[in-house]
Amino acid sequence: MAELPEKAKVVIIGLGGIVGASVAHHLVERGWDDIVGIDKSAVPTDIGSTSHASDFCYATSHDFLSCWTTRYSIDFFERMGHYAKVGGLEIARVGDDGRMDEIKRKVASGKAFGTGVRLVTPAEIKEKFPLIEEDLVQGGMWDPDAGLVVPRSQVVCGLLVENAEKSGKLKAFANTPATGLIIEKGRIKGVETPRGKIMADYVIVCAGLWGRVVAGMAGEDLPVMPVDHPLSWFGPYEEFAGTGKEIGWPLLRDQGNSAYMRDTGDPKTTEGGMIEWGYYEETEPRLCHPRDLLEKTEARLSPSQRDLEIDQVMAPMERAMELTPILAELGYDEKRSFNGLLQVTTDGGPSMGESQKVRGLWYAVAIWIKDGPGLAKLLVDWMTDGRTEIDHHAIDYARFYPFQTDEDFIHARCTEAAMKIYNPAVHPREPFAGGRGVRRSPFYEREKELGGYFMELGGWERAHGYASNEHLLERYADRVPVRENEWDNRHFWRVSNAEHLEMSADVGMVNLSHFAIYDVTGPDHVKFMEYLCVAKVGGDDRVGKGIYTHFLDDKGMVKADFTVFRMADRIRFVDGADAGNRDFVYMKRMAEDLDYDVEITDVSTDFTTIGLWGPNARTTLQKVVEDPEALGHENFPLKTALPFGMPSAPGTSCPSVWRPMPIPAGWKRACACRTRTS
Ligand SMILES: Cc1cc2nc3c(=O)[nH]c(=O)nc-3n(C[C@H](O)[C@H](O)[C@H](O)COP(=O)(O)OP(=O)(O)OC[C@H]3O[C@@H](n4cnc5c(N)ncnc54)[C@H](O)[C@@H]3O)c2cc1C
Repeated sequence: MAELPEKAKVVIIGLGGIVGASVAHHLVERGWDDIVGIDKSAVPTDIGSTSHASDFCYATSHDFLSCWTTRYSIDFFERMGHYAKVGGLEIARVGDDGRMDEIKRKVASGKAFGTGVRLVTPAEIKEKFPLIEEDLVQGGMWDPDAGLVVPRSQVVCGLLVENAEKSGKLKAFANTPATGLIIEKGRIKGVETPRGKIMADYVIVCAGLWGRVVAGMAGEDLPVMPVDHPLSWFGPYEEFAGTGKEIGWPLLRDQGNSAYMRDTGDPKTTEGGMIEWGYYEETEPRLCHPRDLLEKTEARLSPSQRDLEIDQVMAPMERAMELTPILAELGYDEKRSFNGLLQVTTDGGPSMGESQKVRGLWYAVAIWIKDGPGLAKLLVDWMTDGRTEIDHHAIDYARFYPFQTDEDFIHARCTEAAMKIYNPAVHPREPFAGGRGVRRSPFYEREKELGGYFMELGGWERAHGYASNEHLLERYADRVPVRENEWDNRHFWRVSNAEHLEMSADVGMVNLSHFAIYDVTGPDHVKFMEYLCVAKVGGDDRVGKGIYTHFLDDKGMVKADFTVFRMADRIRFVDGADAGNRDFVYMKRMAEDLDYDVEITDVSTDFTTIGLWGPNARTTLQKVVEDPEALGHENFPLKTALPFGMPSAPGTSCPSVWRPMPIPAGWKRACACRTRTS
């Protein structure tokens, strides 16, 4: 066995899976050298999810980034000669109109993102997939580029590693677990293994199901969890005997039953002569913490495979047999069936990008086969250029606030995410039920009294309107559109439209406590923010200004938008709740990299943001301040930030908003800003 090097530029932990192998390939492609890849087991993996994935690639989803990464991966597998583009169907059963509506929406998304999908009739479905009972389906979607990685993604991993090794830039070591990370002054310095240390400038964690365990070595957690995914076989199925095909019919998804299936082609091929049927648990998903995963020597099958009891899947399997009677004819192969562990995440996205605590430590965890090469390309571009050709904010690990990596929060959200992998269709505005009530604004109790309709953002409970304003619907009845379609109307409240009209006509107060607020102080704080922001924030004439502006990358693409307030001794940075932590981490990294002497402090819960808007905003505010004259046009023009005094008596009411909203006790001073908002 080759000797483990003492030093490397980059170490990949988890080389054997689709992610580690794809990252190695792209590092070599982008000119990186001196790469060491280690895996705790075999290369390609024999214990990771990749070793027994179904290897489906559907090209269409509701978000552009996924369509992009899957498109990239399909092209990648195809160029390697390891993709069977058989196409894929998604069907809606007769009586399941909700699923049919979802299929129509998906076709619309596919058209928007250029994936070539179209609606198909029951007759076309039968023609493409003769195993189906035509009478049971009302329609479906045809995804022509969908297909299968053949003969297995595991084989692709082996080839990618082999080629990278041949380039002389990668050294691969199987049976070499990372047992510790060497970290000095917040920077990665190397990896510990039972075979010795490897010092390195960069470490990339591609450890799949074990990603949280490795992140734990850096004192971090990742918001992902392994979950059982029942996979079973029926056979023997001889339809494609002698064809040499790895798959004969298109892929089939029956999401209304939370299930999918495919044939495994010629009996002489890798998986050969069977029908594979997979199911996602809708009511009682079985999650496990990665620290509870068994070792290879302890597991009956493999650490990422657990036993499957037939009772677990009996009801959906019977429904599958109704739709595709061939399953009942062939019979269930119990010995071969198992629960495979795959990862669910708290927000549906992977954990990618640089660690929040340790510079040079990167994560690429919770990634499907269909996105493996695409996301590996983005990660390597990100490490190489500091940017990617497609916006990566939705996958950036820095998007998670500390509370979002709390173990109970991760469990609650991942459980919910696991129940919705396939069914029901998830509405883009659908709020999570678990992990709620983490952050409540000073107005929360009052908002509840007013009948607030709460949604959540960045952990904050946020009212999207108040029942107490329902009367405004009468006033604006003719101007508030009625959303006839149930989906359009779901998680939407007409009252909030009426409130906005009232605000445009008079005045309205909007609780923006969910905004993230960071104070930038220290000797270089103005120079630093002047460097980062697009708008001019430096110069004495900017003190007392509120400035809406952006961070850009070096290609001029927008990284962030926010408002800064120049105060005498600091710059107060006010940001959207969804982007706050990511921008906070970015500022800290930039200050460190560029060596600016600044301190950046999270003051989000020390202060709050309120929007007082409408033509009568100024006069309304003047009624509640100690010195109304100070808020006249001259002192307080557009884009100014001003401290002002308010009466300090607890319970003092703010007049003439829609309904009185008491100013919370102890709120003596406030800062007003007249600025345009986006
Ligand atoms: C039954 C099933 C069906 C699936 N079907 C599909 C599908 O049809 N389409 C699709 O796109 N996806 C599918 N998936 C999901 C897909 O398999 C995974 O998302 C993907 O394989 C994850 O790849 P990975 O490289 O991140 O992780 P893995 O394949 O799990 O690889 C991780 C590697 O890290 C190594 N490792 C762990 N800890 C350490 C350590 N401390 N030191 C060194 N090495 C370490 C492991 O040994 C392993 O080799 C399926 C999953 C399952 C379980």
